[in-house]
Amino acid sequence: MNSLTEVRLTPGMKLCDLSVIVPIYNEEESIPHLCARLFGSLDVLGKTFEIICVDDGSSDGSLRELKKISDLRKELRVVAFRRNCGQTAAMMAGIDYSHGDIIVTIDADLQNDPDDISALLTKIDEGFDVVSGWRKDRQDAVIRRNLVSRIANRIISRISGVALHDYGCTLKAYRRDVIKDVRLYGEMHRFIPIYAAWMGARVYEMPVRHHPRKFGKSKYGLERIAKVVLDLMVVKFLDRYLVKPIYVFGGFGLLSLLISGFTCLLMIWLKFVEAVSMVQTPLPILAAMTFLVGVLSLLMGILAEMMVRTYFESSGRRSYSVRETINIKDI
Ligand code: UDP
Ligand code: MG
Repeated sequence: MNSLTEVRLTPGMKLCDLSVIVPIYNEEESIPHLCARLFGSLDVLGKTFEIICVDDGSSDGSLRELKKISDLRKELRVVAFRRNCGQTAAMMAGIDYSHGDIIVTIDADLQNDPDDISALLTKIDEGFDVVSGWRKDRQDAVIRRNLVSRIANRIISRISGVALHDYGCTLKAYRRDVIKDVRLYGEMHRFIPIYAAWMGARVYEMPVRHHPRKFGKSKYGLERIAKVVLDLMVVKFLDRYLVKPIYVFGGFGLLSLLISGFTCLLMIWLKFVEAVSMVQTPLPILAAMTFLVGVLSLLMGILAEMMVRTYFESSGRRSYSVRETINIKDI
């Protein structure tokens, strides 16, 4: 092939205005409806777009359905995983393979309404960096889903300091620059607005429609709550202490050593004032254990500090984030 005519599409290269990303796991029945609805909503926007469907290792005919439609419409691009890697990984892959300035994520089961995309885009045009959907009238099981998620959302909002009503709604729109450096793991896709807000992005939340699931069934059970809570702890930790892990490990270690010291004093007081033998009480074991834990935590803190330095230096990352510079060339 003539190398001059060979155009290499590198991920991230701008080819269109809008990339819509859909994570798909065993949604065979809803795919034809989903695509029809998506194209119906996007064709009239007057923007160039692509739809990136990420097949997350489906075991049903999802990929077959996607192939059929992608033969007819070239705007439908498909990324197929070898095995099920989870919704967050699917969304991450979609972002990596996307080319649009604006990125919209949406569920494949038509619980989100593709017609809401245009409203999200209006807000992006107004200058917001992230527009997050809020399933105000959520159509899922009342107690098992809605109540539990309301409590979870409160907790996340309190811990993160970013006040949203509904983190779990997949329907969201982002400006590419606030999302391109975010790496997602576990259940973390719901925390993108939090990351973005921490980095100084303008986040807006707007009510969107929500419909009951028509085809197939939900892929999640209650175990998701535990995962979300654990992920939140990691996110919070990484935000606050990524550059100074010794403050967490060292703080815990010092506390432990303090307890050990008090236990020793108590032992001595009991022996010499109250005449109670040390071995009659559990105090020696307590003192020894807290002493050990304290020393180990301090050492782990130092180890973590070393790892953090390797992390920043090897990845070329910086421990700060600059919005803009004036009269200064990029370093
Ligand atoms: N999904 C996925 N991988 C998974 C689980 C789910 O890509 O391992 C997709 C699924 O196909 C759907 C979206 O993530 O498009 C949300 O899943 P679901 O509707 O089951 O979640 P719920 O709406 O019940 O919270
Ligand atoms: Mg759903």
